[in-house]
Amino acid sequence: MKRILVTNDDGIHAPGLQILFNKVQKLGRPVIIAPDRDNSAASHSLTMNRPLRVRELDKDVYSIDGTPTDCVTIGIGKILAEKPDLLISGINPGANLGDDVSYSGTVSAAIEATMLGIPSIAVSLAADSEPYHYETAGAFIATLAQIILKKGLPKDTLLNVNIPNTTIQDIEGVVFTRRGRRLYEDAIKETFDPWGRKHYWIGGGTPSWDSGEDTDSAAISVNKISITPMHLDPTNYEALKFLRQDWQDLLGSK
Ligand SMILES: [Mg+2]
Repeated sequence: MKRILVTNDDGIHAPGLQILFNKVQKLGRPVIIAPDRDNSAASHSLTMNRPLRVRELDKDVYSIDGTPTDCVTIGIGKILAEKPDLLISGINPGANLGDDVSYSGTVSAAIEATMLGIPSIAVSLAADSEPYHYETAGAFIATLAQIILKKGLPKDTLLNVNIPNTTIQDIEGVVFTRRGRRLYEDAIKETFDPWGRKHYWIGGGTPSWDSGEDTDSAAISVNKISITPMHLDPTNYEALKFLRQDWQDLLGSK
C-alpha cells in the first residue's frame, strides 16, 4: 500500500488539510503530520532553539509544535516507519505564485521532502478570500497524485501546483508553467497599539505580476491550473559561466 505524507503550513485544524487527507484515502494510506498552528510564511525555517513535541491526535494524525519543515524532518525521520511514497503539502488557502514561493511554508515542506528523496507536491488554491473551493483542488490533486505514484517525478524536482478558486466546471484546463514574478504594493500597513505606539503589519497589498504568457500567474488569470516544476538547485548556470570567464582573473586565478 502506498504511503502518503500529508502536511501544510496552515496548521492541523485547517480545512484544506482535512480535504486533502480525505481525497487521497483511495490511493493508499495517508498520514497527517502538520504544525499545531498556522505557520503561513514560515518559509523553510527549522526550529533549533527548543525541543519539539509530537502529539498523536488520532490514528495517522500527528501535530508538532513546529514549522512545516520540522514536521517533514521529524515525520520522516522519527514518526513514519518507512519513507513515504509521496508528500502532499496543502491545500493552502491562497496562491503561491512567483515570488510568493520564497516565503511559502507550503512549498518549503515539499522542498524539504524532495531533499529527502520523496516525490513531492505543494498545492495552493489561488483564492483572495472566501469561499474557498477546496473540492476543486482536492479532486485534481487526487488525479495528479495517482500519476505521480505511478510515474514518479524527475530527480530533485517538486511540483508547485496552483488551482483557480472556482468550481470544477469552470476550470479551463491544466498547463505546465514557469515561475513568474509577483510583487506586492502597499503590503506594509501602519497600525497603532492600545497605547498609541506605531507598529507595522506586513500582509495584504495589491499583487502585480509579469505578463509572460507561460508563467504561473498567467495560467491562473485565465482559470487554468498551473503546475510549475521546481528544481532543488537554484544555481544560475549562465551567470556561473559568465563569472568564471569574466571575473575569475579579477579575483585571482586560483
Ligand atoms: Mg498558509
